[in-house]
Amino acid sequence: MKITLAHGSGGASTKELIEQIFAASYNNPVLDMMEDSAVVDGSKKIAITTDSFVVDPIFFKGGNIGRLAVCGTVNDLLMRGATPKYITSAFIIEEGADTKDLKLIAAAMAQAAKEAGVYIVAGDTKVINGNGGIYINTSGVGFIDGPDFCSSRCKEDDVIIVSGSMGDHHAAILSHRMGIKNDIVSDVAPLCEMVLALKNKGIEVHAMRDVTRGGLGTVLNELADASKTCFELEEDKIPVNEQVRSFVKLLGLNIMHMGNEGKLVAVVAKKDANEALRIIRESKYGENAAIIGSVTSGDGVVMKTAIGGKKKVGILIGEGLPRIC
Ligand code: MG
Repeated sequence: MKITLAHGSGGASTKELIEQIFAASYNNPVLDMMEDSAVVDGSKKIAITTDSFVVDPIFFKGGNIGRLAVCGTVNDLLMRGATPKYITSAFIIEEGADTKDLKLIAAAMAQAAKEAGVYIVAGDTKVINGNGGIYINTSGVGFIDGPDFCSSRCKEDDVIIVSGSMGDHHAAILSHRMGIKNDIVSDVAPLCEMVLALKNKGIEVHAMRDVTRGGLGTVLNELADASKTCFELEEDKIPVNEQVRSFVKLLGLNIMHMGNEGKLVAVVAKKDANEALRIIRESKYGENAAIIGSVTSGDGVVMKTAIGGKKKVGILIGEGLPRIC
């Protein structure tokens, strides 16, 4: 069935759309009450985040906009040391979108929410004129018990760990858009298992960021700026999937500016670095984690190249690839 403006009228068609697709996929005791707002248990300290998802294409190798919308928000909560608890889901749907696609997207959101241990507790649907596009906003709430992670806490001698290969999501979306056939799959995933394991084992994490739009180069520059330190990397330690490496070379892209949707960078105290690496490697989605460098005095991001040189790594300038998330 195609979506029409009637599905956004607030009347019978809207009710049918919500009941048959969203409520049916997300069902949980909080949402099922169908009140004007969700009432949930709280915590002394909470993390709140929101993000809108406009990825093009909405279905791609390794996931779809629904999985992305849950993982992106869940991961942003985790990056502050919070345990994700509740998320909201607001859809803006252009008329002409197919309910088959909406069902697949809602099912992917429900599955990702289940994996991440969060409830989707509130939602909204709007239909607008257009050409079948689907956009999603998710907001999330997480509880913080114990120390929160913060960019300004990075300090000299800290060790920089990435949880896996760089650029996968970006390369998958770009391959799809350009019609290039390869086996590159988006890494979109919720990173709860590795982050909560690090917290539970008492690893001294100073800062953590998910490596999304702008790529590792941009994220590390932000951390270096916030903490007034220098991030020194070793180029040959940065994990990159072989197919992504060839793809990047072929198109003349910079892997340091390519985004992921299921990878993080953790800055941890030197004493805990090897244990942190082991924990991440043993966690789901972390098997290719690597120590890629350390924090020193100075500023910016510097990379030691494989042939012994040093080069500065900048932030992404300009738009890069739009609509990656
Ligand atoms: Mg983030």
